[in-house]
Amino acid sequence: MNVSIKGLALASAMTFGLAAQPSPVTPPMHARAAHRLVIQNAMVIYGSGKPPFGPVDIVVQDGLIAYIGPHDGMPSQSMAIPTTPRSSDTVIDATGKYVMPGIVNAHMHWHEERQSGMPQPIQYERNLYLASGVTTAREVGGDFDKSKRWQAESNAHTIIAPRILVYPFVSKGRTGAPAEIRAWIRDIKQRGADGLKIIGVDRDQLEAIMDEAHKLEMRTAAHIAVEETTAKDYAELGVGSIEHFYGVADAALNGIQNFPPDTSYSNEIHRFGRAGELYAQADPAKLHKIIDLMVEKHVAWDPTFSIYEASRDLVRAQTLPWFRDYLHPSMEEYFKGSLDNHGSYFLGWTSSQEAKWKQQYRIWMDAVREFASKGGLVTTGDDAGYIYSLYGFGISRELELHEEAGFQPLEVIEHATWNGAKLLGMEDRIGKVREGFVADLLVVNGNPLENLKLLNPYGADVMLINGRQGSNYSPLGPGDKVQGSRGGGIEWTIKDGIPYHVPTLMREVKEMVSRARTQRVHTTAGQP
Ligand SMILES: [Zn+2]
Repeated sequence: MNVSIKGLALASAMTFGLAAQPSPVTPPMHARAAHRLVIQNAMVIYGSGKPPFGPVDIVVQDGLIAYIGPHDGMPSQSMAIPTTPRSSDTVIDATGKYVMPGIVNAHMHWHEERQSGMPQPIQYERNLYLASGVTTAREVGGDFDKSKRWQAESNAHTIIAPRILVYPFVSKGRTGAPAEIRAWIRDIKQRGADGLKIIGVDRDQLEAIMDEAHKLEMRTAAHIAVEETTAKDYAELGVGSIEHFYGVADAALNGIQNFPPDTSYSNEIHRFGRAGELYAQADPAKLHKIIDLMVEKHVAWDPTFSIYEASRDLVRAQTLPWFRDYLHPSMEEYFKGSLDNHGSYFLGWTSSQEAKWKQQYRIWMDAVREFASKGGLVTTGDDAGYIYSLYGFGISRELELHEEAGFQPLEVIEHATWNGAKLLGMEDRIGKVREGFVADLLVVNGNPLENLKLLNPYGADVMLINGRQGSNYSPLGPGDKVQGSRGGGIEWTIKDGIPYHVPTLMREVKEMVSRARTQRVHTTAGQP
């Protein structure tokens, strides 16, 4: 089944009855650094799991949080900081809004093209991530030199983009001799790699990689795949984080995975279909043990639940309402079923394959929940740009799926912020709303603890009672008028103290998409 824009528009109109939204006006402080930024009357979600607090004023000075407290109050230790704005200040009124730390997307990739030959402007992905609240992005595999350049430009605020951490794929991890692998790691460290991404290697290769990474004090992230090695090897050798679901169930099998004899791992239908059977094959007692080992060895788990969701519910993934305005044609083309495009394995996808993936999610989510309850560090990443997952929307969905796994919304926000900072070794400056920390802050329209969907850049369904937004569990009187409406969304994403207006970022995304669609019509006109 292919994605058709016409079908999507119809589906979303039926679901949401959306009227055309007026183009937002761009406030003058959008994307402008200010010496002093005052956020007034905000409820604060700190990021570390403690209960919300407020309303308070937050003063940001030169990119750092200088004060959190009552209007014109005295901070506990330092000198008094008046919060009443001066004429030169930038002011955000957060009355009725919540402020939380910016999100760390612990697993992402920068793309300038999806369907081969159809360019996709990099600003499209940058805007979508900022609009979804991502202020820090860990790229686990990409174009190293380009990403390093974008990292420097992001740090210097000459581009509009999240902060970037660059973890390149270990080159020759699979094919090189240990000495060659070690030399490559030393070289990439010299060239500024923030960490390493390991993918599908044998035990001896992994030993060389991990030994060299430890000597150089480099962080590591692993996509284990279905391999000779499992999470047991990676935990024993001290990997930093395990990405996705891979390797954990594999370490808990009685023997090896039970796949039929005609399985070919080079065929992605086999690869992704059969991978969805692994958790059901795991021995529950052994699964508890491998989870214990991961906790003991301080391995983090970045499950990226959202990227595999199409496997358990394909029609949902293909008809997401935000595709209508925000899906770039390069990605629309890429997502169509084709074995040439990584992750586009939906050809004849069956109810049985979905049922198996649904079962896999239940066991996998329980495992992640158990891992966290035993003290393991759980983070959030979206890995978007594949499998019907759109940048940014993927991270919003990731948070919802952490709630589905059994975490409270406050814990989910901790995964996305404070835990992400710890994963990166940046917990001395980002991931929490705290005086002295970098001002990476989201100003959210409403309370995301009531509904994580409020973080979605498309907004969320809300209920109006007599014209005012209220809980749909509110007691209703006979004369009360109830209406459905749209609300939520992040209003401002603040990175390094610079405020970015989310409706403006999304309007720009929409314009990029509609320009690219027009061009596609022109370039394909006249072809049979
Ligand atoms: Zn990835």
